[in-house]
Amino acid sequence: MSIFEELLSKSGLSKEELEEKLANFKTKNPDLNNEIASFFIAKELGVEIDDSKLVITPLNLIDENTKNANILVSVDRSYPVKDFDTNNKKGQLQNLIVTDNTANMQLTIWNPTENFVQGDVILVTNVFVNLFKNEKKLNTSKFSSVKVKDKKQFERTYNEKHLYELQDKDTGLKVTGIIRVKQELKEFESQGQVKSVLRFTIEENGFKNICVAWGKATKEINDLELNTKIELKGTYAKLNKGQLELHLNDYTKVNILEKDVPEFIPILKNISELAYNEYCKINTKIKSVISTRYVRVCKVCGNQMMKIDDKYFCSVCNAEQESYAKANTYFLIEDDSGNSSAILTKKVLMKLLNCDEIQLETLMTNTNFEGLEINAIGYLRKNRNNESEFFVDVLI
Ligand SMILES: [Zn+2]
Repeated sequence: MSIFEELLSKSGLSKEELEEKLANFKTKNPDLNNEIASFFIAKELGVEIDDSKLVITPLNLIDENTKNANILVSVDRSYPVKDFDTNNKKGQLQNLIVTDNTANMQLTIWNPTENFVQGDVILVTNVFVNLFKNEKKLNTSKFSSVKVKDKKQFERTYNEKHLYELQDKDTGLKVTGIIRVKQELKEFESQGQVKSVLRFTIEENGFKNICVAWGKATKEINDLELNTKIELKGTYAKLNKGQLELHLNDYTKVNILEKDVPEFIPILKNISELAYNEYCKINTKIKSVISTRYVRVCKVCGNQMMKIDDKYFCSVCNAEQESYAKANTYFLIEDDSGNSSAILTKKVLMKLLNCDEIQLETLMTNTNFEGLEINAIGYLRKNRNNESEFFVDVLI
């Protein structure tokens, strides 16, 4: 039964009377489709329509030309109702961030009849789209209705991952981890507003990942003690200078799972026992050097420096610039059970050779590494070429 048919059976009007009403209404409002028009007429006549029949448009199918769409969404964030006074029109509006698991969008409710709050599941009829700074925003019109439905109708689903499974551009993530390191909350100014950022590290079964909190998430994290196990819902992963960061923003939910979680103690494994992504301890020796890389990178432009005599020169900046080292070495390591390739990054190499990053360049080429002990904590992983390598996180 269409909405028109339902209206016909409930309104007490004849088919002709109702069709005339509909035709009249549509002459004045040609943009509205039959469904929305019937729904609106029902509202005017005080007829309750079963709104489960409305055709719902998923948010990810809404484009900048969308009109007359009905949406069923949950409120992810609500802003206070405020007054507006533009183009001689006065009234109130409420901005909401809404989601239906296909996308998040901003919805402006013009002249709201109630205050909508986070967690409300709302059915909104006849929304239209406008573009603001190239972003699609949803709006109600005077023919819209907004109705709070059962809050338990749906819960937002998340992309649940372990820290070692994270990939660049993963969104809507749900991850758990223990806060092990927390830096100072930093405030800065951007576009005339004070913003804040907080970097911290979480750990899960020995795996560590850097997190960056922005906005209101900074305060929430800042208030937590180290060694608190948390669940983060609605985070996203992003590669930054080769390092995968987990970002938290105003929409991220932080739940506390446990406090004072003891330090993770990795167990000692033979090379033949190594399993992918399992954080463990190894006692091995270097058999040979596979490859070694040392470059200096311009601090100003990020380009690789050229070495001329003893000085480093940036051909992009066309100047001698300050620079920093990027270095790593691949070794073949062995123990009684077998061998494996292992990667040691700059930080680990400096510890191994007990030097600074300037001395590192010469020491990397002049040191006889064969037979040196590598007692370390790390994990076996696959590199970009799908080859196995043991990533040495820290020497012990
Ligand atoms: Zn440069």
